[in-house]
Amino acid sequence: MNIIEAKNISLWYGDTQALNKVNLSIPTHRVTALIGPSGCGKSTFLRSLNRMNDLIEGVRVEGTINYGGVPITSPNIDVTALRKEVGMVFQQPNPFPMSIYDNIAYGPRIQGIRRKSELDDIVERSLKDAAMWMEVRDRLHNNALGLSGGQQQRLCIARALAVEPQVLLMDESTSALDPVSTATIEELIVRLKQRYTVVMVTHNLQQAHRISDQCAFFLMGEVVESDSSSQIFNHPRDMRTSDYVSGRFG
Ligand code: ADP
Repeated sequence: MNIIEAKNISLWYGDTQALNKVNLSIPTHRVTALIGPSGCGKSTFLRSLNRMNDLIEGVRVEGTINYGGVPITSPNIDVTALRKEVGMVFQQPNPFPMSIYDNIAYGPRIQGIRRKSELDDIVERSLKDAAMWMEVRDRLHNNALGLSGGQQQRLCIARALAVEPQVLLMDESTSALDPVSTATIEELIVRLKQRYTVVMVTHNLQQAHRISDQCAFFLMGEVVESDSSSQIFNHPRDMRTSDYVSGRFG
């Protein structure tokens, strides 16, 4: 089953077209990687899945994206509710300058959860989901900015999971991290797909090959090819995909 279906998505930043009739389905409980050279529209497409492009002046979108059958490209959808369902983790870890506990409780508190025991449970569950409970359980009230970069990024994943999303969007979320932290987050992503759907942008082809189930190859605003990752990496159908995954450009 596909949790998200994008149909004929075109997007312009002012006069510059960044996406051209993109069709892509995102299967539920799988990791989908968006790959392709820099500037080909991967992040733009990712941001359109939770309407983050709305925050950029002069953006115009054509086409439809259905999330669970609901057209989220329609102007009158509840964007806040959508972003609760479709969470996001960015390239640079961006914890709030507050305690580890308060970072995670932030979203649930905005949703009106006040009871301490309930917040405690959410903090513990989210940190366990992000594979860092054991590391930080004794210092939940320390400032999150004191954590290492890799821990900060897992905290941001925990913060995204705290509001129980269905989909997690990850935009180059390991590219600012060292190899050990990257490996930890890759393992985490593979585990997360049991309960969530992950869509990730990566320029790291080995990473896409290691952890994604499905891959979409973007080039100049278009999806050239999307298929199972084994097909894309081992038997690409399009010569441009073949050239890219074999390292001939990009
Ligand atoms: P990728 O993620 O593949 O590197 P992007 O989606 O970031 O590609 O960018 C696609 C195109 O859209 C590029 O030409 C880029 O310069 C342009 N673009 C991206 N973000 C903005 C923005 N906020 N304003 C104007 N143009 C943008």
